[in-house]
Amino acid sequence: MKIAILSRNRNLYSTKRLVEAAEQRGHEARVLDTLRCYMNIAAHKPTVHYQGELLGAYDAVIPRIGASVTFYGTSVLRQFEMMGTYPLNESVAISRSRDKLRSLQLLSRKGIGLPVTGIANKPGDIKDLIQMVGGAPCVIKLLEGTQGIGVVLAETQKAAESVVEAFMGLKANILVQEYIHEAGGADIRCFVVGGKVVAAMKRQAQPGEFRSNLHRGGSASLIKITPEERSTATRAAQIMGLNVAGVDLLRSNHGPVVMEVNSSPGLEGIEAATGKDVADMIISFIETNAKLGKTRTRGKG
Ligand code: ADP
Ligand code: MG
Repeated sequence: MKIAILSRNRNLYSTKRLVEAAEQRGHEARVLDTLRCYMNIAAHKPTVHYQGELLGAYDAVIPRIGASVTFYGTSVLRQFEMMGTYPLNESVAISRSRDKLRSLQLLSRKGIGLPVTGIANKPGDIKDLIQMVGGAPCVIKLLEGTQGIGVVLAETQKAAESVVEAFMGLKANILVQEYIHEAGGADIRCFVVGGKVVAAMKRQAQPGEFRSNLHRGGSASLIKITPEERSTATRAAQIMGLNVAGVDLLRSNHGPVVMEVNSSPGLEGIEAATGKDVADMIISFIETNAKLGKTRTRGKG
């Protein structure tokens, strides 16, 4: 098969591993810098151009679209979908997952366990909003943050009010969330491929920190997840419409709660912690599922 990998940087661990796994399985893999793809969107026959070259047909495309390029990246991916290329994750599903609030609303509609979460727009509603999620301590998050940046733990009602007020003053979109204290600064990353959790790791925040992101100094280790955690993770990925997803869970007193669903989960942490060849499983999933023109949406919104 001919597989295109949309990635800003061919030297990133995940990108390199996907190329390696594809070649090992006898495929041709080409990394395309997402931001260097351009296209005539009004053309009768959709095409993608790259550094002066008109790209030929690809059987599958693996989107590795960073949060900062979601908008352009998903439009490039949509163009591939319109050409009938099989996307590992569809553009609509990626856009959906990038909006934390939208994701949580979709998951709650289907009865997935979530931390109590609220959102408001006017400073006058802050006090009540914080009470609604159970009062302080509570977590305040920027809707479009990643890697733990823009996630704040407010210990007191007063601190929570000032942080929310400050974010609102900056016109940032935020949510306020119940703090899952019993998680003890740890979360569980479930790596889902094709409706199965193929690898799972526990990420533990460093001492004095509640955010377990590896980018914030968290450490990863192998973990055995419960059947309930397994089914929560696979259902969450399915509801979001993602074939490949990193579903992050917290162990709360009332069972597993989903914190977020990541549509371009990194391979480095999970492969190192579990010793599993996740890249190979992704390519093998593509082999079974990429039939030319099989994308459901073909670029529809
Ligand atoms: P990001 O997208 O920036 O990674 P997350 O929502 O995943 O933002 O939050 C970052 C980290 O903060 C999580 O991995 C988790 O360790 C911690 N965290 C987030 N929300 C909560 C919460 N409601 N209760 C306890 N810890 C949380
Ligand atoms: Mg996270």
